[in-house]
Amino acid sequence: MENYLSISTLNDFVFCPYSIYLHNVYMAADEELFHAAPQTQGKASHRAIDAQTYSTKQDIIVGLPVFSNEFGIAGKIDIYKSEEKSLIERKHQLNKIYKGQIYQLWAQYFCMTEMGYWIEKLSFYSISANKTYPVNIPSEDDKKEFAGFILNLRNFDPETEIPINENKCRHCVYCNLCDKTEVENVYS
Ligand code: SF4
Repeated sequence: MENYLSISTLNDFVFCPYSIYLHNVYMAADEELFHAAPQTQGKASHRAIDAQTYSTKQDIIVGLPVFSNEFGIAGKIDIYKSEEKSLIERKHQLNKIYKGQIYQLWAQYFCMTEMGYWIEKLSFYSISANKTYPVNIPSEDDKKEFAGFILNLRNFDPETEIPINENKCRHCVYCNLCDKTEVENVYS
């Protein structure tokens, strides 16, 4: 599994490619050093899932480790309801669904289907709004787009010039550790 990409980094890469480099550099460091408030809250809402305490119902699988040989990715799902054939990703708050979040859900879908699970429904669930947001099952074109995205991520060179968006930097969990900007993280 050494060369497998973590599904959790896909959204970061869409947000800013350089954050992947920082993620890898500081991965071994204490998470509290760089996990800002929203991410910490998000992680807390996932803790019940990681501890497999979300439900004892037989048809609900939580926190399942998944991987895809085809894409070279690995991670964990949130919730799979086998009776409904439904894969759900919970978010503490969901004001908008970003492309990176869609890629993460697709990644879980591709992993699970490759592992032999049957999925007919994909969705996000906002905990704060108690609302479900359905997502289309990826088409063949979506799959090609995803493969191209994974290739870009895998081949990313941290020396590449990237456009700096200071507003993004202010909301970036790696801001205080990043050598590309001098702005302050809004969470500090
Ligand atoms: S602080 Fe800015 S440049 Fe650095 S990783 Fe975050 S978004 Fe990218």
